[in-house]
Amino acid sequence: MIIGIDLGTTNSLAAVWRDGKAQLIPNALGSFLTPSCVGMDDDGTVLTGEAARARLQTHPHMTAALFKRYMGSERETQLGARKFRPEELSSMVLRSLKEDAEAWLGEPVTEAIVTVPAYFSDAQRKATRVAGQLAGLRVERLLNEPTAAALAYGIQDTKRETKFLVFDLGGGTFDVSILELFEGVMEVRATAGDNFLGGEDFVSVLVDAFLSRSGLSRDLNGAELNGTQRQRLREEAERAKRALSDSLTARMAYTSAGKEYSLDLTEDLFVLLCDHLVQRLRGPVERALRDATIKASELDSVVLAGGATRMPLVRKMVSRMFGRFPSINLDPDQAIALGAAVQTGLMARDAALSEVVMTDVAPYSLGISIAREIGPNQYEGGHYLPIIERNSTVPVSRVESITTINDYQNELVVHVYQGESRRVSDNVFLGKLAFPIEAKRSGEVSADVRFTYDISGVLEAEITLQPSLEKHTLVITENAGVMTQAEVAKRLAELNELKIHPRDKIENRTLLAQADRLYEQLLGQERAYLAQHIAAFTGVLNTQQPAAMRRAHEVLTRVMRELGGSSFL
Ligand code: AMP
Repeated sequence: MIIGIDLGTTNSLAAVWRDGKAQLIPNALGSFLTPSCVGMDDDGTVLTGEAARARLQTHPHMTAALFKRYMGSERETQLGARKFRPEELSSMVLRSLKEDAEAWLGEPVTEAIVTVPAYFSDAQRKATRVAGQLAGLRVERLLNEPTAAALAYGIQDTKRETKFLVFDLGGGTFDVSILELFEGVMEVRATAGDNFLGGEDFVSVLVDAFLSRSGLSRDLNGAELNGTQRQRLREEAERAKRALSDSLTARMAYTSAGKEYSLDLTEDLFVLLCDHLVQRLRGPVERALRDATIKASELDSVVLAGGATRMPLVRKMVSRMFGRFPSINLDPDQAIALGAAVQTGLMARDAALSEVVMTDVAPYSLGISIAREIGPNQYEGGHYLPIIERNSTVPVSRVESITTINDYQNELVVHVYQGESRRVSDNVFLGKLAFPIEAKRSGEVSADVRFTYDISGVLEAEITLQPSLEKHTLVITENAGVMTQAEVAKRLAELNELKIHPRDKIENRTLLAQADRLYEQLLGQERAYLAQHIAAFTGVLNTQQPAAMRRAHEVLTRVMRELGGSSFL
């Protein structure tokens, strides 16, 4: 069975193509959104999803979030006794989605289409594939998130030619894509984005504003909030940010050292505070339009995706920029997962879907380092020769010829880069290929460098020497942040040794984590009352009696509501 997965920065979702339509898959808690969080329980058991998210505040050093931002890098996160790479943490989220899907579908799930930001680099895409592999899923294809959103909106069913823009602002990434549907071919004309801009940045703005405007910063007098306190303040800011999506005012409140601090927010103040972030949304939109050689007025529609597009200030900016209201008849949180499921349907050639061919583009230019003549017989190395230009439709294969510049050089070294700068030192190094050549005078040995970039964003470089036609193919092993297959196998064995919290017990474990979080908020009698109920609940869990456990779950949930902790559930 194959499913579609939106592996998001803050939340992940799974969906399946069934009975002629895309359907979201609920997790063990009955929710479609599974927080992209991983934690280590006190006994070393791995917790994922809501149970881990609830512990972000109570156990910040044992919980990881936002790791999608580090995909494709070597950055490791310490959880308990072990360090984890971003692809390992992602694999645990994927594994829980896989288990939820298996439980819901009643059959094994072995394959998935996983979505990635269109702007993800080669290393980030490879890391995503590895995450799938570590989760026991064959990643059939990586699908660009904006393309997935377009599929969810059924743009492929539009009978006429249409040009549209997908504006996708998630928790941590921003993507803009311009797509065109023409005679059954959906072509991505251009993509642009920012891998470090998303809803979380708006939360950070509110946290900073609170610190400076509520007087808390002054009272801290140079001291910093610890991890738990900072997380509590972030959650308060997150709540206020969401409240501002539904009403014109919101209040942030926070207690520190027995003193109550607060900040009254209005929509206008929020707009003012976030102006620099909103301005940053413009750049990628303008670049995508320029690369696609399309004017904003020529677009037929603007599609929103990503939870952060719920913010009225973002919607207003989009409406102003395009002179029209965006399409918002789908839940922006769900569009990408639904689109991934549509793609699985397309691959299975489901009769309910009109035939559509998908095309994507290479998000960055890819090229090599060359020497350029800067004067008579004077060469300077380190210049960039793009071979595949950014926003070329993929799959794409392009070739450039190079010749030797030194007399009797007996080796040819080709360095491969990704990026847009004139000097390779400002681009990202992807790998190199070195091989012996026949020592001849300069210019007498030439080679064709062919770059082939496939639909999943994987690059292959093939160099053919002239006239011998001897070929060398580049296997990029020095790609920073990408694990070798040997490393993957080793990590997989280590992951398999970890204890993972059993899915059927996750509901109770989540409630316990949520109750712990509420306990930290309360004081005095209320705190003692909750403590008593938590103790009773854990006592019943130890009996392992299903009916008693169900009742105890209900009682603790009710007590938490009574104590005003509904937002913790
Ligand atoms: P995604 O990665 O698409 O799940 O988007 C998650 C982001 O959307 C997070 O930064 C959330 O805070 C944000 N978000 C979700 N719901 C709302 C809402 N009602 N108002 C404002 N932001 C929201």
